[in-house]
Amino acid sequence: MISPQIFLRLAGRGLLAFLWQRNRPLIGSVILTNRCNLHCRHCAVSNLVCQDYPFEQIQADLQALFDRGCRILFLYGGEPLLWTDGEHTFPDVVQLARQMGYWLVNAVTNGTWPLSAPGIDLYLVSLDGNREHHNAIRGETYDQVLETIRQDRNVPVVLYMAINTINLADIETVAKLARCLPAIQAVSYNFHTPYPGTESLALSRAEKLAASRRIATLIDQGYPVLNLKHALPHIARNGAPVPSRHCLVAESGQIWTCGRCRDIPGLCQQCGFLFAAEYSLVFAGRPWVLLDLFKTYGRLLKKVSSC
Ligand code: SF4
Ligand code: SF4
Repeated sequence: MISPQIFLRLAGRGLLAFLWQRNRPLIGSVILTNRCNLHCRHCAVSNLVCQDYPFEQIQADLQALFDRGCRILFLYGGEPLLWTDGEHTFPDVVQLARQMGYWLVNAVTNGTWPLSAPGIDLYLVSLDGNREHHNAIRGETYDQVLETIRQDRNVPVVLYMAINTINLADIETVAKLARCLPAIQAVSYNFHTPYPGTESLALSRAEKLAASRRIATLIDQGYPVLNLKHALPHIARNGAPVPSRHCLVAESGQIWTCGRCRDIPGLCQQCGFLFAAEYSLVFAGRPWVLLDLFKTYGRLLKKVSSC
């Protein structure tokens, strides 16, 4: 969970960036490996080269993003918890990032491996709907993911759902789960980004707008949702200024602004990755979105579970 001290530092840095440093990156993502034990229907990255990057390379990537201003870190794969290099395993990368001075160290995982690295602030665990729809997208893993979350009760977890044509009906189901299970801090929604070969899973603009309204209703009803309410309609209409200058991605010595996907023609205009678009809108000076940011992340300080 985010400590009050870290929250205040982030708020201060956010305000500073908003007033004077709007172009400075804040959020860094480092890819540890392309290896993954799953074969999700919507995936564009797993097992592309089946390589775990060397520890020294990851150290260099972490340092490069830190030197450019990033203080919030996301560790990605493939499946990042699978990463190894000789004696080194995932907790060593977390420790390294901590020593380097990152304020928040988060990991995005498929939830099929134990969540046990000391020093992680949040695990974003993918859960793509109810059992039937999640399993249709990610293989028979729904029960395993919930078991992982239940087992590691002291680890802060945010559910990470990519909304697509299969699981569109499940937005509320996942929010209810996030509210009921004490181990889960919140849910963060994305829309499916139509990477080549996965276009059939993409929502239409009308479907995205309707889904945005449903997510906004959940926020109004007090569900622990990590998205920014006033950003949602802009994003559904593809009106956010993306690619985002505030997010950097590093993989094996290469650095991209916003995402590795920015070179795919036309993809940014259909991007469903809400985090990048939300931050772009914050730094574009949308006051209601900025207010949402403080309200939403403030809720992470204290979540009350109820069913
Ligand atoms: S868990 Fe993530 S990296 Fe692995 S196949 Fe699924 S979407 Fe791709
Ligand atoms: S805006 Fe473009 S570069 Fe950024 S995540 Fe979306 S598709 Fe990738």
